[in-house]
Amino acid sequence: MIHEIEELFERQARAWPQLAKGIEGLAWAKTRRVRIDWFDVFIRHIPHRIGSTTASVDRNSVAKRSCFLCRENLPPEEEGVQFDDNFTIYCNPFPIVDHHLTIAHREHRWQGIANHFGNMLELAAALPGYFVIYNGPECGASAPDHMHFQAGSRGLLPIEKDTAELTGITVPNYGRNVFLLRGRERYGLIHRMDHAIDILAEATGKTAEPLVNIAVFHEKEEWVTYLFPRGKHRPEVFHTGELTVSPASIDLCGIFVVPLAHDFEKITGDAIAAIFREVTLPDSQFQEVAGKLENAR
Ligand SMILES: [Zn+2]
Repeated sequence: MIHEIEELFERQARAWPQLAKGIEGLAWAKTRRVRIDWFDVFIRHIPHRIGSTTASVDRNSVAKRSCFLCRENLPPEEEGVQFDDNFTIYCNPFPIVDHHLTIAHREHRWQGIANHFGNMLELAAALPGYFVIYNGPECGASAPDHMHFQAGSRGLLPIEKDTAELTGITVPNYGRNVFLLRGRERYGLIHRMDHAIDILAEATGKTAEPLVNIAVFHEKEEWVTYLFPRGKHRPEVFHTGELTVSPASIDLCGIFVVPLAHDFEKITGDAIAAIFREVTLPDSQFQEVAGKLENAR
């Protein structure tokens, strides 16, 4: 699979100008590292992310535009690699990390993790050296109307180094609430994820899916999954225009995307910690959910 993906990238970078432009844009991206208590964040200035960062994802706006993940709407140059009966892997023309992939369902169906976390684990196992992410429809997915994952090279992903020695469900948290689910057994992990989603839905009063971002990678026969429960979609600084940032899975994993140059110059580690604190689940709810998850282990 990895070999096919490598070939896809080489082929598409030659045949598809938009992807070539995205890869070049990423190569020029400036990166600045900040330490926030126990974890690192790489702040990346990536101008071509402005569309995703500011995308209107409410149901009305989404209904009015044509879906950019439906096969019939793809640019003529774009091709993919079939992963299984349902999912096809494409190169993402607006990359945040090297080998940034979009993995889209063949059908136009609403973004949702129920019944699809198993696919995510399979993708991670089939793509060593990559992480796979899921952004919920109300907290980061720029196509909430079309089921998809993303994946990318783990080379720069800070969170996995930060949490390498940890074995519990919660991790020391400084503004970033996250659950850590590790395991070698696929069904056991799916069961734990389903349970976590149920508890979060109950705790946050959501009848549909609770707001979550998920990241997973597979190494030494083990899956490592980060579940970020969210309290809200965009931070207040986005709405006031103070900072044009809209964190999703990759940002919460420690690669913080900043599309505008003046934001890149001024944003601080403290500001990022405050944004994480604001958009992830508030501490009291997080502790309540953590307690239930610990009991269920
Ligand atoms: Zn679609």
